[in-house]
Amino acid sequence: MSDDRFILTLNAGSSSLKFSVYRAEAEPVEIAVGQVENLGPAAELKARIGVDKIKADLGPADHREAMRAILEHCETILNGRAPVAVGHRIVHGGVDYAEPQILTPDVVDKLTTLVPLAPLHQPFNLQVIEAAIAAFPDAVQVGCFDTAFHRNHPWVNDTFGLPRRYYDKGVRRYGFHGLSYHYIAGALRDREPGLAAGRVVIAHLGNGASMCGVRDGRSIASTMGFSALDGLPMGTRCGQLDPGVLLYLMENEGMTAPEITTLLYTESGLKGLSGESNDMRHLLASARPEAAQAIDYYASRIRRELGAMAASLGGIDALVFCGGVGENSAPIRAMICDEMEWLGIALDPSANTAHAHRISTGPVDVLVMPTDEERVIARAATKAVRS
Ligand code: ADP
Repeated sequence: MSDDRFILTLNAGSSSLKFSVYRAEAEPVEIAVGQVENLGPAAELKARIGVDKIKADLGPADHREAMRAILEHCETILNGRAPVAVGHRIVHGGVDYAEPQILTPDVVDKLTTLVPLAPLHQPFNLQVIEAAIAAFPDAVQVGCFDTAFHRNHPWVNDTFGLPRRYYDKGVRRYGFHGLSYHYIAGALRDREPGLAAGRVVIAHLGNGASMCGVRDGRSIASTMGFSALDGLPMGTRCGQLDPGVLLYLMENEGMTAPEITTLLYTESGLKGLSGESNDMRHLLASARPEAAQAIDYYASRIRRELGAMAASLGGIDALVFCGGVGENSAPIRAMICDEMEWLGIALDPSANTAHAHRISTGPVDVLVMPTDEERVIARAATKAVRS
C-alpha cells in the first residue's frame, strides 16, 4: 500500500466530534488527531499533527459546522488530497451488524431506522456520515458499530424478562463500548495469548463506563443493555436502576420522558451523587463526604458487576482496566480490587501505583491496558480499501 493514501476516522459524541488521520498502511500509522469540543455555544477545535498543536475557537457550532472546521483542517493535513476511506464510529448497528459495513445507501437507510434505539447519538452519527459523503464522494465510507462486538451473546445475556414480543421488536441487551473491547481483545491476543484464550473481564472506565465478559476473544456479556444507561454508574449516567423508580418519577413527580432523559443521562452518576463533579480526579481530591460516598458507590457497583461477570463466564482468568479512570487511577483500581480477594484478585500496590501493565500478585491476572477505538476504525477502513 502506498504511503500517500489516507484514512480519516470520525467519532461523533453528543457534545464532541473526534477525528484522526492515518496513513493507510497494513497497520495504519496515525498522523493527526483532534476534536471539536463543547459543541453548542462555544465550540473549540484542538488537534495535534505530528508535534504541532492547533487550537481554534469556532464560536457557536453544531455537528455539521464542526465537520466543516475539521474538513478545512484536513485539507491542510492532507495537502488537498482526499482520504481513500472514511471510518465512522456508529453507536448502534442493531441486531444484524456484527462486523463493520460499507455505508451504501441501503445500510444508511437501515441505520436511520435504528434512531429510536439511540436517539441521543445515532442522529449525530448520521449527520456526520452525510457530511463526509458530501465532502469525499469518492472515498469508501465504513461504519464501525459499538454494538457489533456483542452480537453473539448467549440468548440469556441478550434478553430482558419481558414478554417475548418485545425481544422480537428489538428490545434487547445490545451492549456498547464494543470498539474499545474489540481493541483490547486484539491487544491481549498479541501480548497475552494464553489469557486471551481464557475468561477475561474488561472494565472500560471512562466518562461512560461498562464491563464486558470475554471468553476466547468473544464477548459473552455486557453490563450495558438496551441503552448506554445500564450497568455501572458513570460520570453523569445512573447505571443500573430499578425500573420502578421510573414509574414513581412519572406518576408521583409528574416528570415527562424528556425530563427523565436529562436526569438519567446528564444529572446522575458521580455528578448526581456527589453534587459536585463527574470528574473522578476532582472527586478523589475533594474533602466533602458526598464525594467519598459517590466514589464508594461507584467502586461497590463495579465489584458487584465483576462478581456477576465472573459468574457469567464460569470463572475469571484476567481483569483488564482501560478508559480514563481505569488506565490512570491507581486509587480506584485499588478500591475495586482490594475487596475481591475471594475471587483470586490481589493487587501489587507498587505495580498499581506505577500503572504497570500487570498489577496483580494473585491467581487472577490484573492488567492495565490503554484502549484505542480510533485504531479499530482505521483498521476496518483500511481493510475496506486494501488492494
Ligand atoms: P470518554 O469516556 O469521554 O472517552 P475517558 O475514557 O477519556 O472519557 O475518561 C475520562 C475520565 O477519566 C475523566 O472524566 C476523568 O474523571 C477520568 N480520569 C482521567 N485521568 C484520571 C486520573 N489520573 N485519575 C482519576 N480519573 C481520571
